[in-house]
Amino acid sequence: MVRTRFAPSPTGYLHIGGVRTALFNWLFARRHGGRFVLRIDDTDEMRNVEAALQPILDGFRWLGLDWDEGPEVGGDFGPYRQSERTERHREAARTLVERGLAYTDYATPDEIQAERGAAQAEGKRFLYSRAWMAKTPQERSKFESEGRKALVRLEMPREGTCTFVDAVRGEVSFDWAREQDHVIQRADGSCLYHLASVVDDHDMEISHVIRAEEHLSNTPRQIFIAEGLGFEPPTFAHLPFVAAPGGKNKLSKRKLEQYRKNPDFARVWEHGNAIAAAIGHDASADTFNPVIVDFYETVGYLPGALLNYLLLLGWSLDDKTEFFTRDEMVQHFGLERVGKGAASFDPAKLAAFQDHYMQELPLATRVEMTLTFLEGAGLVAAPVAEADRDRAGRIVEAAGDRIKVAGDVLDYRHFFRPATELAWDDRAFAKRLEKPDAAARLERLRERFATADEFEVGAVEEIVRSFVEAEGIKMGDIIHALRVAVTGTAVGFGMFETLAILGRDECLARIDAALARVSERKAAGSS
Ligand code: GLU
Repeated sequence: MVRTRFAPSPTGYLHIGGVRTALFNWLFARRHGGRFVLRIDDTDEMRNVEAALQPILDGFRWLGLDWDEGPEVGGDFGPYRQSERTERHREAARTLVERGLAYTDYATPDEIQAERGAAQAEGKRFLYSRAWMAKTPQERSKFESEGRKALVRLEMPREGTCTFVDAVRGEVSFDWAREQDHVIQRADGSCLYHLASVVDDHDMEISHVIRAEEHLSNTPRQIFIAEGLGFEPPTFAHLPFVAAPGGKNKLSKRKLEQYRKNPDFARVWEHGNAIAAAIGHDASADTFNPVIVDFYETVGYLPGALLNYLLLLGWSLDDKTEFFTRDEMVQHFGLERVGKGAASFDPAKLAAFQDHYMQELPLATRVEMTLTFLEGAGLVAAPVAEADRDRAGRIVEAAGDRIKVAGDVLDYRHFFRPATELAWDDRAFAKRLEKPDAAARLERLRERFATADEFEVGAVEEIVRSFVEAEGIKMGDIIHALRVAVTGTAVGFGMFETLAILGRDECLARIDAALARVSERKAAGSS
């Protein structure tokens, strides 16, 4: 039975690179009718594990990456938190010592550091002298009588090679001599990641360890531990890095300021910040940035678009197929088509996937998604009244592909605000409404609106066209001024749709507010 796992540490957020690894594990399990396990690599000392875990679980739920075993769902191989498995880890450490594959060591950190320094000074690779290794009770009590503390190290082979077949990279070899006598248990009795991970993978019957490339060099020592404990090592598959935008180094949350210099990254981030600000979401850079999955959920991406994009970060079916439904992903996924080179994270490409999926959705679905944002920004009240829903529907329809993420609906927030609360774009206002004749002309158009029989799209268009003709002007001479007057800004979708959606009363009120503002500013300027 194929059993895969994703083993995050509870850090409080789900990283783009991590979720790509999780996706590949999930797909592989689903492809083979296996099980996908979520294991939490916490340690005894971690505080607030629950709080730090929740955003990770929420991220998985949002993406629809369901886990068959793990926190909140349980399973037959629990507990699924490393911190609750410490007895098993300690027992394994004891077994390795008994079998002569690990030893208690009494060196102090300073002594190790001195050896390391000496090796460096001679330009040699550091290899511990094992001078404080204790294998017999006599040796142990001698060191202990000196007040030394024991930790447990692996007694790694110092010659030969470790060779294994990686499902992505093929045959891989490491010289044993490159390996240190890694610590597996600290003086306080707690066990380290390598030991814990091997024991848990075995106990949970994990068949395939699919993880990021950075763990490739950890594999020999993990194989050493597994074999020492008499376990059959799982199949390893090391995925290429998700690299920084436009770069080759691993994508990291610590390099955000550097990524900000990438215009696409900066644009996506700023766009997200604007939406977050409008809905009152905490947008501190540490928890809200394009490297974290929650960012995309918050601004209104579709989980399917993110998954599809992540799929192609390191995997391809051929050199042309880009779009995959969830079922197609499961149907086609395999480790043999995972690439070996780093795949760089490209927020512009992700945005393009999002745009594609968004435009494919039926209007009603897009409207539902955008209502959440209008509610979040306090522009419509829940439960949503029919009139608001109707207005949102008309806006989403008229905006068309201008709404690329659900949060983009907030570009049209002025539709939901009274004329008195319109946020004026001062530059556009000065340019379009404060030039000679502009206000007087707008006032004449206002009268035509006020006396019109109808105010639907066709009727409004007709009024504006006949006005343009009567005035002997061009469409552009009135339409920009009109747009700024009724929306506050210079950009937006079709003018006649805009007017019709607002309705006559609202248009008149907004034109009046704009004209009043022109007069006020004129008076202020001349005084
Ligand atoms: N908790 C480890 C990490 O976050 C898991 C590594 C592994 O997959 O073995 O890197």
